[in-house]
Amino acid sequence: MAAKRVVVVGGGTAGWMTAAAVASLLPGRCDVHLVESEAIGIVGVGEATLPHIRSFNERLGIDEADFMAATRATFKLGIEFVDWGRIGDSYIHPFGTFGPGTGEIDFHQFWLRLRQQGLGVPDLDHFSMACTMARMNRFALPSTDPRRLESTFGYAYQFDATLYAPYLRAIAEARGARRTEGRIVAVHRDGESGDVVSVQLEDGSRIEGDLFVDCSGFVSLLLDKTLGEPFEDWSKWLLNDRAAAMPCRTEGAVTPFTGVIAMPYGWRWRIPLQHRTGNGYVFSSQFLSEEEAMRAIEAAAEGEKIADPRVLRFKAGRRRRSWVHNCVGVGLASGFLEPLESTSIYLIQQAITALLELFPDGAITGVERDEYNRLIDLEYDRIRDFLILHYHATERADTPYWDYVRTMEIPDTLAEKMELFRRRGRVVKYREGVFLDASWVAVYLGQRVIPQGHDLRADAPSAESLVAGMRKLAGDIQGIAAGMEDHGAYLRRYCPMREAA
Ligand SMILES: Cc1cc2nc3c(=O)[nH]c(=O)nc-3n(C[C@H](O)[C@H](O)[C@H](O)COP(=O)(O)OP(=O)(O)OC[C@H]3O[C@@H](n4cnc5c(N)ncnc54)[C@H](O)[C@@H]3O)c2cc1C
Repeated sequence: MAAKRVVVVGGGTAGWMTAAAVASLLPGRCDVHLVESEAIGIVGVGEATLPHIRSFNERLGIDEADFMAATRATFKLGIEFVDWGRIGDSYIHPFGTFGPGTGEIDFHQFWLRLRQQGLGVPDLDHFSMACTMARMNRFALPSTDPRRLESTFGYAYQFDATLYAPYLRAIAEARGARRTEGRIVAVHRDGESGDVVSVQLEDGSRIEGDLFVDCSGFVSLLLDKTLGEPFEDWSKWLLNDRAAAMPCRTEGAVTPFTGVIAMPYGWRWRIPLQHRTGNGYVFSSQFLSEEEAMRAIEAAAEGEKIADPRVLRFKAGRRRRSWVHNCVGVGLASGFLEPLESTSIYLIQQAITALLELFPDGAITGVERDEYNRLIDLEYDRIRDFLILHYHATERADTPYWDYVRTMEIPDTLAEKMELFRRRGRVVKYREGVFLDASWVAVYLGQRVIPQGHDLRADAPSAESLVAGMRKLAGDIQGIAAGMEDHGAYLRRYCPMREAA
């Protein structure tokens, strides 16, 4: 069978991740042709990731140290949330488990039992390798031996978003992907089927394809502008619709975690890279003007600014379907969830994975399209609930913004999850996907959603043995982390940044 002509519309992170993956993983089955317009440019933010990106890079045969040097990346062990439950609170959502990560009963159940019995045990984050390393500013790659505590954490990267796409571009082109520079001014559809047949550039030339991947960013050139796929608007739960982003110099240690600090009308990120620190105030324009947000981020950034703040606009939600006719939306073209938990690049990766798994062998069928849409909806919906939890589980009422999110109605799916946790500390289990038990536990407890009871099986061991075991575990974790290298020193040795090509 002739190779399928895959046209990728857009050359941001989504476009080049798609082109690199399809060219690498379906060699000989597809001709990949990417169209992008330098005049339009890319969104250029998106610096913090989730651990899943490592498997994406590995599948493409990317050398980690080389990639980190090229994108000036740092390691990320989790996210520190400051001032979320109450002003003055701080907790880390770690990548990895609490406790040794083995056993039938969740570790936090034993911890809850001891707390509920009034027996002194350290805070839960003392039982997480990732939290302890992050607080001590240490780093080492995890062990592959599941018996070791050094295997109980994961990590992701914080990198320069403007450098990842060019890095992938070199890989995609080396593996046969073609690139055309130019602005698309028209999209042509088949009169009978409604499928897209070609995109037309300003100079009148047309690029034809069998399958189109819409990576055109917020403009959503194919899914929205051409096919009119409706947008499901989630802004009644996720109010933020603007971000004022501003890079600054790094003053102090390069931390192996992303900072997410609550602000009066939203929150700000602090993402340390090797050469600078990214900052941004994500806020709701119902409560704060763009000018006020720009001033606030300038005042809050912890280093000298490198560029003036710039404002990005967005809306929370997703296209009702991500795959319509012969067009698959990947990245911002298919939806957007604010970067509170660094999920956008993860969603791009999941979309590409699902597309590769369901890649049409011959004509596109409805069943494959439906299955794709089901998988993507599931990912979006779960992340949506997880994000809403951060807002709803707060005691803050110091501004109308926090008062609204604290008291707003939440989706039934989230209300049920919260009720289960409040009763006995149970976390709804997912077999696959993002944000497993430890993530939910970290945010629930970090934001003062405290269970009344616990799993009764956690009552079996004696209290004395549990307390002694926990104290030893916390000490072991502390000792291991203390023996690790400083994060900044690790970066300088492992992947010192290099100048852009
Ligand atoms: C404030 C903010 C912070 C973020 N932080 C994070 C984060 O920490 N972590 C994370 O994972 N994600 C984050 N994201 C999301 C992340 O930036 C995006 O998911 C990622 O950059 C992918 O963008 P994209 O490729 O879909 O779109 P874009 O980067 O906008 O690329 C669109 C492409 O389409 C092309 N294009 C558009 N129209 C045309 C046309 N007519 N003709 C030809 N080409 C065209 C453009 O030239 C460009 O190449 C953040 C987003 C925002 C807004």
